[in-house]
Amino acid sequence: MANTKTLKVRIKDKHVPLLNEMARSVNFVWNYVNALSSRAIRERGQFLSEYDLHPYTKGAGKELGLHSQTLQCISKEYVTRRKQFKKTRLNWRRSGGAKRSLGWMPVNTGAASWKNGQVYHAGHYFKVWDSYGLSQYKFRTASFNEDARGRWYFNVVVEVAAKPTQGTGAVGIDLGLKDAATTSLGEKLESKHYRRLENALGIAQRANNRKRVKAIHAKIKNKRKDDIHQFSRQLVNTNAAIFVGNVQPKPLTKTKMAKSVLDAGWEMLKTMLEYKCNHAGVVFEEVNEAYTTQVCSCCGCLSQNSPKGRAGLRIREWTCECGITHDRDVNAARNILAAGHRRLAVGIPLL
Ligand SMILES: [Zn+2]
Repeated sequence: MANTKTLKVRIKDKHVPLLNEMARSVNFVWNYVNALSSRAIRERGQFLSEYDLHPYTKGAGKELGLHSQTLQCISKEYVTRRKQFKKTRLNWRRSGGAKRSLGWMPVNTGAASWKNGQVYHAGHYFKVWDSYGLSQYKFRTASFNEDARGRWYFNVVVEVAAKPTQGTGAVGIDLGLKDAATTSLGEKLESKHYRRLENALGIAQRANNRKRVKAIHAKIKNKRKDDIHQFSRQLVNTNAAIFVGNVQPKPLTKTKMAKSVLDAGWEMLKTMLEYKCNHAGVVFEEVNEAYTTQVCSCCGCLSQNSPKGRAGLRIREWTCECGITHDRDVNAARNILAAGHRRLAVGIPLL
């Protein structure tokens, strides 16, 4: 069974001028397609498909310094976005000025390869920091992308062989506010260190230091992603079944708790767990998390002392009438695990 994953490697800065130039050409094509498509809609009521658009860009690659299939990829992406945003015209891609679009160049399957220890595309060699050993992989679609700091990356979809998990355990995960996630074994994915970076961010914002603000934003984003990758990887490696509460982040984000909820990166964690579990043959289920905070995971009673409602969010530790003292989140995670086991046994959500 072949699966795919996306690898991201940083391109060495000496290629930045060339990539910026290519990105300008991409923007030119995008804007041309945008004008063409919107005019067809306005004047003829016709929504051009990617195949309708191909003849218009065909043969322009050489002059623009782009791979011919990149032109097709741009049209394809354009039509996808036009459908997604349900618009008759999309934003122009800007090559300069304050609202400059971040550089982007799509690459079709087969149009980039690993050659002489470098990424080869459209007649150019690009040196990268090869943190994955790219030579081992077969490239599929890819893209060159610039980040807010002007660094360029090569993102490539590669084929990987599925590896079944060696794990035998089962674990429940409580997605919380204070700690981003807690497992039934007491491991925590913490969001604390982002607070420290956020303080630094506040300072930079007050000082109007835009470069530093961008740098810190990028740092927070990368750090969060790394942490979630590591946390989910370790869980998938050691377990045969993983259960999470079915928290719905949307209603909560409308309240004051929004910041913490977004910080926690629940969606990212769920998504990563889901695909890593699928990949490794690990059972992954969302279970109803109602009452998981209030019920004692030891005796099963709905304790008088357990945290309830908004006020209960502050209670981190509590003691049940049965005499057991609980960490609030670990207790919830244990209840989620129990609910997951019952669900697997009966096949319907229960709690
Ligand atoms: Zn109890």
